[in-house]
Formats: sequence, structure tokens, C-alpha cells
Amino acid sequence: MTLPQLADSAAAGLSQPATVIAAAPGRVNLIGEHIDYCDGFVMPFAIDRYIVIVAAPNDSKMAKLASDGLPDAIIDLSTPQDIGEPHWANYVRGVIDGFQKLGHTLPGFDAHIVSTVPGGAGLSSSAALECATATLLEGLLGLTLPKKQKALLCQKAEHEFAQVPCGIMDQFASVFGEENRIVMIDCQSEEPTLVPFENPSIAVIIANTNVHHQLTDGGYAIRRRHTEEALAKIGIASWRNVTLADVEAKWEELGDPVNRRARHIVTEIARTQAAALALEANDFTELGILMQASHVSLRDDFEVSCEELDLMVTIANDIGPRGGVLGARMTGGGFGGSTVTLCDSDQAESIMATMRMVYQQATGIEPEIFCSRPSRGAHLIR
Ligand code: ADP
Ligand code: MG
Repeated sequence: MTLPQLADSAAAGLSQPATVIAAAPGRVNLIGEHIDYCDGFVMPFAIDRYIVIVAAPNDSKMAKLASDGLPDAIIDLSTPQDIGEPHWANYVRGVIDGFQKLGHTLPGFDAHIVSTVPGGAGLSSSAALECATATLLEGLLGLTLPKKQKALLCQKAEHEFAQVPCGIMDQFASVFGEENRIVMIDCQSEEPTLVPFENPSIAVIIANTNVHHQLTDGGYAIRRRHTEEALAKIGIASWRNVTLADVEAKWEELGDPVNRRARHIVTEIARTQAAALALEANDFTELGILMQASHVSLRDDFEVSCEELDLMVTIANDIGPRGGVLGARMTGGGFGGSTVTLCDSDQAESIMATMRMVYQQATGIEPEIFCSRPSRGAHLIR
């Protein structure tokens, strides 16, 4: 579904004509995983899958929100925000809270939300929801926040209202994304650079495994804690300045698995820097090799992959360069979700068909597999 079609379908779900229509995309990360909270570099792009919110003022102090297939939410805009039910509306409450703390008084509104970003698939539907909400509020208030402030406000919403200690990648990709551009982010300076990615002979395949493993130990937060513990023991202020030799010198003291977590961070930062050079040189073979190595490190050292992600990556690897596959890896936080595969455009259709068929035969699960190109970030359609 195209973005205008999605906007039309959202508007059809509102009982009065929409005065504001906001859209924000999900993202896929080419390389640089779990290092956005470790002063690393990351290379996501905004995908052509969006969350669209349509709204109209309702002469009250309430925001009334509906999202297809989920319970409706009513949010009181005349008071400070708190975490509440339904759970999904916490992403919206968090963003409203951010605007209120900037001193803005929001008008009441009715809103309808539609989406083509699969939820919980590692493609950042949560950031898309936050960034679409922030864009909607900009539209309702008739103002525009600086992009960086907007992305950080959305990240804070995710921290405080969804209680996910995410880095800056997802919200930066959703806000700063542009057609044919990768949003290369220096997560130490929090500065994005738009890097051209427009070679028509290269395609990016996203494969949603359609599994999401709930970890009882809260896998993401524990990984984050391990990295903090490792950095403190290594005794260097920023991961940016830690070398593999520094990690190896403390290998026994760090102990398993923290030493392996640390090795992933320093090698992934190095791989992402190498990937940026490969991209600049149009060397997609090298980029693919770095993506493969990233997957191995995420699987073995950071341990955030799972059987289904490994299988999807193996299927792509088995097709190999002869069949047009340059590299494949898991993308996003892990424990399920999606893989990203770099390939020759000419062979993308047949690669996707093989991935679908072999994955489904092996698991009995129907995956969702599609090509995507770097697309426009969060914006007002009306
Ligand atoms: P990801 O960001 O990788 O998709 P998360 O677990 O971070 O996965 O975020 C998924 C959550 O975001 C959902 O559980 C839901 O609360 C919220 N969400 C995603 N899409 C929508 C939507 N269209 N409408 C309402 N809430 C949504
Ligand atoms: Mg998310």
C-alpha cells in the first residue's frame, strides 16, 4: 500500500474530516547493532512502511485515539501524563508528556492510526508511532521542532513511558530518513549524516521471521547492563576509544559472558566504520562480508539471535554470491524479528521466493519478506 493510500484509509476511519495527517516510517539497520547505546556508529535507513495518524480537533481536553485491532485510548491533555492502559498508548502519552514539558498546551483531538510497519518485528514500529505522534502534535500546534530535539523527545518517551532503555537509532532514522539516503549516525556526538544509497543494481530484502521470543530475563536491558559493567571494568570513558586489545587484557576479569559482550561492541564499531568506507567506495561485496561478520558476532558473542533468525540468514548465505546474495544478518534488537539481506536487484525476486519457501518448510511459519529502499522520514501529509 502506498503512503497516500494508507492516509486515505486512515482518514476513512475518522468520523469527521481530518485536519492534520502525520506519517512516520519504520527503519531497517544495515549494520551497527546494539552499539547505539555504546557510542558506536549505526547505519539504518527509513523504510517505505509507515504509521499514519489522522486527526481533527474535538473541542474537549481529551485525545481520543483508535488504532485498528487495538482497544481505544483516551488521554487527558489537561493533566501531566502517566503510564496507563491500554499499553500501546504509552508511546503516545510519552510524546504528549514531552510536548507538555516544553510548555505547550495541546488542544483536544480525535485520531485514527493505521500502519504498514509490522509490530514487534525489529523494524521499529514503536519509534514510528512516537515520531508520527510528535509530527501530529507539531501539526496541531502549528510548529516545527528541530529534528534532533524531536528524535530525542521520542526516545525519552520510549525510555520513560514504555520503559525500554533504547539507544537513539530508531527515532533518528524515523525522523531524519530521506529517499535514497542511509542515516549514518555517530551515536557519541548524536549527529546524523545522510549517506547516498541509490545504486539501482543493489537491493535490500527484509525478512520478518514472524517470531518474537519473550525473554523472562529482559534480554535487551541485561545486554545494556553488561556493556556498562564491561566499560567500567575496562576503565575507559567511551567505547569509542576501547580496542580489542583492551578487552583481551581484561578477558579473565570481565568473565563470561561479559567479555564476549565487550568483544561484540568493539568489533561491531570497527565493522560499521569499515562499512561506511565500503559504501563510500561502492564496494557492496565488502559491505556484505561485514554484514555476515556482524551476524556471527551478534549470534555468538552478544547472543541476541535465535534459531529462526539464524535459519533465515543461513538460507540467504546458502544462495550465496552466485545467486546474488552479498550478505545477510539479523537486524534490530534480536530474539526474533527480522533479517536484512543485501543482494543484486536482478535476483531479488528469486532470492525472496527461496527464502519464503525454505523458511516455511523448515518452521511451518509463514514469513513476511519484501524489498525496501531508503524512504522519506516523518512528515506532515496535511
Ligand atoms: P518494534 O519497535 O520492533 O516494532 P516494540 O516492541 O518496540 O517492537 O514496539 C511494538 C509496540 O509498539 C506494540 O506492542 C504496540 O504497543 C506499539 N505499536 C506498534 N504499532 C502500533 C500501531 N499501529 N498502533 C498502536 N500501537 C502500535
Ligand atoms: Mg521498538
